[in-house]
Amino acid sequence: GGERTKNVLILMSDTGGGHRASAEAIRDAFRLEYGDEYRVYVKDVWKEFAGWPLNDMERSYKFMIKHVQLWKVAFHTTSPRWIHSFYLAAMAAYYAKEVEAGLMEYKPDIIISVHPLMQHIPLWVLKWQGLQKKVIFVTVITDLTTCHRTWFHPGVNRLYSPSEEVAKRAFLDGLEESQIRVFGLPIRPSFCRAIVCKDDLRMELEMDPQLPAVLLMGGGEGMGPVKKTAEALGESLFDEQLAKPIGQLIIICGRNKDLASSLESLKWKIPVKVRGFETQMEKWMGACDCIITKAGPGTIAEALIRGLPIILNDYIPGQEKGNVPYVVDNGAGVFTRSPKESAKLVSEWFSTETAELKRMSENALKLAQPNAVFDIVKDIHELACQRGPLASIPYVLTSSFSNLI
Ligand code: UDP
Repeated sequence: GGERTKNVLILMSDTGGGHRASAEAIRDAFRLEYGDEYRVYVKDVWKEFAGWPLNDMERSYKFMIKHVQLWKVAFHTTSPRWIHSFYLAAMAAYYAKEVEAGLMEYKPDIIISVHPLMQHIPLWVLKWQGLQKKVIFVTVITDLTTCHRTWFHPGVNRLYSPSEEVAKRAFLDGLEESQIRVFGLPIRPSFCRAIVCKDDLRMELEMDPQLPAVLLMGGGEGMGPVKKTAEALGESLFDEQLAKPIGQLIIICGRNKDLASSLESLKWKIPVKVRGFETQMEKWMGACDCIITKAGPGTIAEALIRGLPIILNDYIPGQEKGNVPYVVDNGAGVFTRSPKESAKLVSEWFSTETAELKRMSENALKLAQPNAVFDIVKDIHELACQRGPLASIPYVLTSSFSNLI
């Protein structure tokens, strides 16, 4: 009591849907656990304050992901530490003033990075400001397995890892065990709390109350072979002999408007819903019986919490590659790039192989870590308490950064 509200600045970027979802999850968990004790800002600082190329990361990323070989090369050539450290330090020098201005505006007591490129520059700026002992800086990794090494910076107070695999990589990259915590990927609290039963959800979402349902999506941007898979499911989930559907299909296209409109113009023999960007994914997942998606960490972690068997039909090279064995080897799903194969699997799961579907669902639930986001904010709160009552932090604008280096 009596302490001033602490400022928390979450650094994210709208590359994909995952970073924003994790940032919002952390913000919501702070509010649920600690109410007014923390004021949380979720900011795409680079977009707001920095110049090119930082303010353009979203577009460059989308471009590279579309031309996926480019991304593969960028991911792997920047892996050696001397390359990305040099590059990021140079950018930090160049953008120090803008980044500093960003920090000045929010005067954070705690900085949380949920982005692989947001360790080095803010930590440099804090160091230059002589604030690295006063401001708590933590990284929350939002890649499940084969993440990029820019996530790992030895100067953080804590590194929150979603898996033992990522923790091992961090350790090999020089972080101390005492810096690392493994709680899981932070998922929006609405996923872990207030669970409504499937029947009610289906009524609310105007779905068929009886038919088993498959959810088809491709991350925030609606990527992967969504259209071909939808068409194949339209065939495989229709029983020609009985002349009736054996399942229903929900397609969530995210921000991919072209995909949504091209799917809407198709004729279907089974019940189908085509949706754009949905803000209540927990409801759609709760109303379905399995999911087909690219190997996005957010979607995978959410599906596991809902106990949905997962068909992975694509992955982004680099950071999503390891997500495939993570799901498959743990018996929570399968990987196939073939739309026909996916469609066949679902039709089997919905007819003859229901036991297999159930087994995979149980395995999914075993992997799920619904409380990760609460464990993370509680740990950050403890760090803040250890610092004692925070005096207000002396953010000052030093005009001579560029002269310092
Ligand atoms: N998502 C959403 N609404 C949509 C589509 C996706 O809220 O219409 C969310 C999804 O629930 C997940 C995130 O966006 O939390 C996607 O993250 P993921 O790591 O799976 O893939 P990314 O889009 O980052 O490549």
